[in-house]
Amino acid sequence: MSRKLNFNAGPGALPDEVLQQAANAVIDYNNSGLSILEISHRGNAFAAIIEESKQLVRELCELGDDYEVLWLHGGGRLQFCMVPMNFLGDDDIAGYIDTDHWSHAAIEYAQYYGNVQVLASSKENNYNRLPLWPEKIAVDLSYVHFTSNNTIYGTQWHSVPECNVPLVADMSSDIFCSRRDYKHCDMFYAAAQKNAGAAGVTLVVIRKDMLERGRRKLPSMLDYKAQAKENSVLNTSPVFAIYTSLLMLRWTKNRGIDAIEKENKLKADLLYKEVERNSLFNLYVEKKEDRSLMNVCFTAIDPGTEKSFLKFCDDRNITGVKGHRSIGGFRVSLYNAVTVRATKALAEAMKEFEQSKDN
Ligand code: PMP
Repeated sequence: MSRKLNFNAGPGALPDEVLQQAANAVIDYNNSGLSILEISHRGNAFAAIIEESKQLVRELCELGDDYEVLWLHGGGRLQFCMVPMNFLGDDDIAGYIDTDHWSHAAIEYAQYYGNVQVLASSKENNYNRLPLWPEKIAVDLSYVHFTSNNTIYGTQWHSVPECNVPLVADMSSDIFCSRRDYKHCDMFYAAAQKNAGAAGVTLVVIRKDMLERGRRKLPSMLDYKAQAKENSVLNTSPVFAIYTSLLMLRWTKNRGIDAIEKENKLKADLLYKEVERNSLFNLYVEKKEDRSLMNVCFTAIDPGTEKSFLKFCDDRNITGVKGHRSIGGFRVSLYNAVTVRATKALAEAMKEFEQSKDN
């Protein structure tokens, strides 16, 4: 089968070997005579999957046993709800950093449960840069929430700041992309479908002492403490999605975070340079230090060429470069599984497209 060069924003590209291993497990999981789709979420085989995945997450994020690792349903968006449900009482205030469509959605959800103070925002600039991180954060805030990588607009906080109140990060689109101080976060989460597996499960990593900070009585499915107590098998877990995440975690460990970071920088550099050089395109994010390693966003100087560039890509087996409907243009996602070879092929296609317009 010929595989496309996949630059989709999420679900994103997965490594060939992970797909092959997942496919094998669908037919027969570890010579058990059962498909991974058929095993019980309460059996020993799945308990081993959960245990190994927890260890690998801690190892890759350089965290100790003081962090709990959970696999939950409901995608990134359910975390936009669960964070305030658990940690924001009716009269409490949480600080949010507003850098994109997703952080904005997180703010809207939080307002159902308590008060939100927007500590910094780049909304006025159409999110084409990062705001300054707030210098002073009031100690009575319940927590501060930020989005480490802004998938739609292509900005990224490259390091995790220290914070004097509990820090919660949405790392859905850049987890495991580089070495960073995960321990500066009291909680972080990532919908799996970019660097951590397939859609259908969300990785939540939370300091154990946060589990005692619940602000209201909640049904157990929505309560981090109850989920932790049941080791992510409170109800029927998405076994296959969690197994796919385990395969991604093993792949990530085998390659090593440093090697992944190096390659991500190479891919991003290659593409940003091409967009800057190419006379047909404009980068969306001007400030170099704000640019995401994961999502490279740009527009066509002549909007009339947009469609023909997409067709040009399609003819070359390149897919997933159309921008999000809210800003248009192009977005190329360079998640961990995207190869340097694929990135070079795209940069080459951009050059050829430019030449085709010259003639
Ligand atoms: N946060 C970020 C940073 C995202 O990129 C996305 C989706 N692309 C979400 C949250 C929402 O995730 P989900 O669709 O799994 O709810």
